[in-house]
Amino acid sequence: MRPLSLRRVVLLLFITVVIPALLVEPSLGASVDDATRQLSRDIFKQLIEINTTDSVGSTTVAAQAMAQRLLDAGFPPADVAVLGPNGRKGNMVARLHGTGAHRPVLLIGHLDVVEARREDWTTDPFEFVEKDGYFYGRGTQDMKSDDAIFVTTFIRFWKEGYKPDRDIILALTADEEGGKSNGIDWLLKHHRDLIDAEFVLNADGGGVDTVNGKPLIVSMDSSEKLYADFQLTVTNPGGHSSLPRPDNAIYHLTDALGRLERYQFPFELNPVTRAYFERMARVETGQTASDMTAVVKTPPDPAAIARLSSDPLNNATIRTTCVATRLDAGHANNALPQTASANVNCRILPGHSREEVRQILIRVLADPKVTVRYVGNDGAVFDRAPEGQAFPPVTLRADVMQTLERVAGSMWPGAPVVPTMATGASDGVYTNAAGLPTYGISGIAIDLDDVRAHGKDERVRVESFYEGVDFYYRYLKALTTR
Ligand SMILES: [Zn+2]
Repeated sequence: MRPLSLRRVVLLLFITVVIPALLVEPSLGASVDDATRQLSRDIFKQLIEINTTDSVGSTTVAAQAMAQRLLDAGFPPADVAVLGPNGRKGNMVARLHGTGAHRPVLLIGHLDVVEARREDWTTDPFEFVEKDGYFYGRGTQDMKSDDAIFVTTFIRFWKEGYKPDRDIILALTADEEGGKSNGIDWLLKHHRDLIDAEFVLNADGGGVDTVNGKPLIVSMDSSEKLYADFQLTVTNPGGHSSLPRPDNAIYHLTDALGRLERYQFPFELNPVTRAYFERMARVETGQTASDMTAVVKTPPDPAAIARLSSDPLNNATIRTTCVATRLDAGHANNALPQTASANVNCRILPGHSREEVRQILIRVLADPKVTVRYVGNDGAVFDRAPEGQAFPPVTLRADVMQTLERVAGSMWPGAPVVPTMATGASDGVYTNAAGLPTYGISGIAIDLDDVRAHGKDERVRVESFYEGVDFYYRYLKALTTR
């Protein structure tokens, strides 16, 4: 996904105020040797130039190319596989064997990219272009850079004969951005044994937030909200509009939506959002900083909650949200409406289920004439919503967190590690739901005003890419040497 995530937008808002205090050191630059630079660049270029869009691309081609890289480096064929539900949606799974002292760690990255049209871009989106200190191409931010970094790290570890204290599994997958064949979901359902792990590192989240290349914070996505659409419907016999009746489908629906508009889901923090506010309070200033401190206290200060709630981004962090996004009603200008329907989109805090939220909607809408049904990913409508898919917030593992603080501290001194809850969703939805706690961690630095994932002229700083190469090598090694 690599969305314009919560903290990026938050930071954009106060950047002008706090930056002078925060600019400690420019980043130190990557310490990777020339051969590693060349290798990682070649892999990155190769991935960018393989079209992996859902419309005409193939993740299988990319998965096979990465498998071949590992085989050429000497990985045993038994430890490298390309598998998928059909010929165009292949996933690559590879394993670097460790001592077995601990259960494996799984690295995930998606190979697919969002559509990109040549006429929208300055350069060809499927050509790897180096220009003005940047690499351009679809997937340079989201997320072929990190895919290339994972493969490079695997090859370096293998060539060194490095033996981690647990197996390191790499899964490069299909259809994170859309499409019907989500690779992580498919692997979990059909080849769980191949990717089963104690925890997961997902490079599709987290990263270094920079301003003009200067690091501000190192974020770690440790939680995600759950996505759900609900269809609200009112039906009515209708009739001639010259003879209005009080019982009107549109009025029933809009009255109910008015009640939803005035409803606020309860304030709730989890370990991740609590840590987020604690750390952001140190980076923020003024009223916002003191409000952030006040909401992590027990009991939290209601006035501080109210003030934070007036900001859409803070509001989305402290509660589940549901909002009307579409309306459809009536069939003729001169007829009473026979149906009125609305779509309500919800972003649900970890630990709650879609069915639980459907029940709350029914209570809040408070009109038995309004039916509330769940809309699945493929548009199919169900009377009830899934109950089993809610997952609790992940615990902030000490090894994952402290190692990140140590390695990031040496590479980007002065930029604190901040745990974040993504308000969107990534493949972590599947791994977390399967009981594999997932952390979004990346060493790629992107300027807060240069987030181009899914957009035109997507790019990443050349040096930022090599720092990312350096970061994952150091981080994984520190994490798996004990
Ligand atoms: Zn992504």
